[in-house]
Amino acid sequence: MTTPSDSLLPAAHASDKTAPWPAYVTASLAWHAGAGLFAIAAPASWPWAVAAIAANHAVLTAGGLWPRSRWLGSNWTRLPAHAANRREIAITIDDGPDSAVTPAVLDLLDAHGAKATFFCIGAEARAHPALCREIVGRGHSVQNHSDRHSHRFSLLGPKAMAREIAAAQASLADITGEAPRFFRAPAGLRNPFLAPVLQRLDLQLVSWTRRGFDTVRREPSDVLARLARSLAGGDILTVHDGNAARTKDGTAVLLAVLPGLLAHARSLGLVAVTLPAASLQQPGNDAVAAAKAAASASS
Ligand SMILES: [Zn+2]
Repeated sequence: MTTPSDSLLPAAHASDKTAPWPAYVTASLAWHAGAGLFAIAAPASWPWAVAAIAANHAVLTAGGLWPRSRWLGSNWTRLPAHAANRREIAITIDDGPDSAVTPAVLDLLDAHGAKATFFCIGAEARAHPALCREIVGRGHSVQNHSDRHSHRFSLLGPKAMAREIAAAQASLADITGEAPRFFRAPAGLRNPFLAPVLQRLDLQLVSWTRRGFDTVRREPSDVLARLARSLAGGDILTVHDGNAARTKDGTAVLLAVLPGLLAHARSLGLVAVTLPAASLQQPGNDAVAAAKAAASASS
């Protein structure tokens, strides 16, 4: 089993606040400067300088369009090694809270003694503050999934991107009493401006090990098979309570998938914990409680 190194621990705990740009972005800036100087020194070679810059932009764009890439900065695609060794997994639930789906999700999680992380949209949290507080009150975690979940998020400049994330951060902290420590970009898409914004706001970017594509796939067995494929300690799974596709009988796909997924995890001896619990070097009280609840739910 491979596990990520401690270099994946939250940037929020890194002491170096003086170098906000990821190494690749810094190298890109140098590449631009070098191409510019080359074109000045040898004007006839300007097409080569333009091609060098275009190639660099293509790589940066690909890094932003590939949700699991680390080219644009730190990005959790798996839990840290200590959590994987404890056989922890993280179920992350995006785009809510949703008054038609989230309450039933909370009941299913309780019934299986599982804890989850809800990546909430700021505007949805403001529309359903009591539901947002209930998520936290029942031992789960609320984290930042932007303020409006704009499909243009990855096209925003640094100021608009910072405003979008900070607005959600303020609303979620105000509603739940806990400032989020993790951020997920809408659809996982981003650009090079994101990393410095997250560092300033003390947020760790999280993508996933596998996602269910449950906003578009309507067949629960299909979504479950995708999520359960080689499920192992350290996995981060992504599903949706908001924007959820509906099965043929009108049920949100997540509600049809969750019981089978949680039973499968338990059969493998895996414990579903929140991202803050998984980030602790020593198991926290909620992880211990989740393990006990999972054991009693299976007996
Ligand atoms: Zn989303």
